[in-house]
Amino acid sequence: MTASDWKKILKQLNAKPAVKEKFLKFCKPKERKIGIAARKCGRCGRFGAHISKYGLHLCRHCFREIAESLGFKKYS
Ligand SMILES: [Zn+2]
Repeated sequence: MTASDWKKILKQLNAKPAVKEKFLKFCKPKERKIGIAARKCGRCGRFGAHISKYGLHLCRHCFREIAESLGFKKYS
């Protein structure tokens, strides 16, 4: 389990409310204020290669895919 998809577990646990309650009390990942896990891609959820400049908050992969639609031009 990675920190990016821990909320997917809740979907499974909806069938078992008692287990879900216990999970939320003891096993829920911490809310991060600093560090790599505090910033994740808004489009795909990756943690690495984060671009926060201009308030983008995308990973480099997503940026590469949608840069032209955002108005960026490639000069090479
Ligand atoms: Zn991404």
